[in-house]
Amino acid sequence: MSIERDPVCAMEATNSKITSTYQGKMYYFCSECCKISFELNPEKYLAKIKK
Ligand SMILES: [Zn+2]
Repeated sequence: MSIERDPVCAMEATNSKITSTYQGKMYYFCSECCKISFELNPEKYLAKIKK
């Protein structure tokens, strides 16, 4: 079992029902607000979490 983090605000969002799939990967969000932010500009948030 892995811990999923909201890519927008970095809060833990494991088991959240608010999800979005982007480029074949599912992301979890703490709120609809974060999900909408992500969907508007996913590359911006993914660039931050890529190592
Ligand atoms: Zn969030």
